[in-house]
Amino acid sequence: MAADQYAFEDPTKKYADIDTPEQYQEGSGLDADLVEKADRGEKSYRGTGRLEGRKALITGADSGIGAAVAIAFAREGADVAISYLPEEEEDAQEIVSLIQEAGRKALALPGDLTDSSYAKGIVERTVEEFGGIDILVNNAGKQQYVNDLADLSDAQFDETFKTNVYAMFWTTKAALAHLKPGSTIINTSSIQAYSPSEHLVDYATTKASINAFSKALAQQLAPKGIRVNVVAPGPIWTPLQTAGGQPSEALPEFGEQTPLGRAGQPAELAPAYVFLASGESSYVSGETLNVNGGMPTP
Ligand code: NAD
Ligand code: MG
Repeated sequence: MAADQYAFEDPTKKYADIDTPEQYQEGSGLDADLVEKADRGEKSYRGTGRLEGRKALITGADSGIGAAVAIAFAREGADVAISYLPEEEEDAQEIVSLIQEAGRKALALPGDLTDSSYAKGIVERTVEEFGGIDILVNNAGKQQYVNDLADLSDAQFDETFKTNVYAMFWTTKAALAHLKPGSTIINTSSIQAYSPSEHLVDYATTKASINAFSKALAQQLAPKGIRVNVVAPGPIWTPLQTAGGQPSEALPEFGEQTPLGRAGQPAELAPAYVFLASGESSYVSGETLNVNGGMPTP
């Protein structure tokens, strides 16, 4: 049997075979064009029915962390709707196939989350297709490094906030009309929320906003039986990083600054989302699960 997420391995040596060479991708980038390929758990994630019968919507689920979460949710028994940019259709179709191979329903929702009507509409589409929604993962994100604040354009500042913060607000607000007690919301933040890099001013600011939004909303929704939690990844090997998230020349050393000494793979994030989505975390809300290679957090 192939190794699954339950295998014990030296975490410093795991994935030593995946190099992260210098490269650049235009636009939001594709997993299909990533050199070398990331592990999203396609060959390893083993479900055990932890989300049987649940109905999930995940934004940015065509690639990277969101794709790994979509694969895991489907193998745990959930129907999964995935939101992504139209230019990412190739990546998205692969994830649709993997969801269907797990025996679950997949719903592909291409569009731009900086458009509020799309960000709200994906909830209605999910409810129409699946007959409800009980897991929302706000995971889509924009990260473009800029060294000098003078070069950070108003347009980029606006787009980073629209994608990372406004879309989360719009989609969550639309979902509230449908989420029943026992539902869960999970927002993807970052180590950047409390340990910001000098070249990611706009991005880091949005991630701190996501943390505050989530902790405030967790308290507001707790009496309704809806839990809100955060996953805060460290450096993870995804197209976000090769499409301008980092300078290309920084990629070969990507993640080496962490105590575990390497970049994380999307597959290593999925169990955190499964835990927060499942009934196992019934007494956990307003919490942040840091999956970051051992970097200290406040
Ligand atoms: P990714 O590029 O694979 O996923 C991000 C996705 O966001 C894209 O696939 C795209 O579908 C979506 N997206 C971006 N702009 C959009 C828009 N305008 N409309 C609709 N969708 C849009 O990269 P990833 O690293 O898996 O990113 C997922 C989340 O993880 C993001 O929120 C990111 O900030 C966060 N994160 C990543 C890292 C890392 O090192 N990779 C670290 C911390 C946090
Ligand atoms: Mg993508």
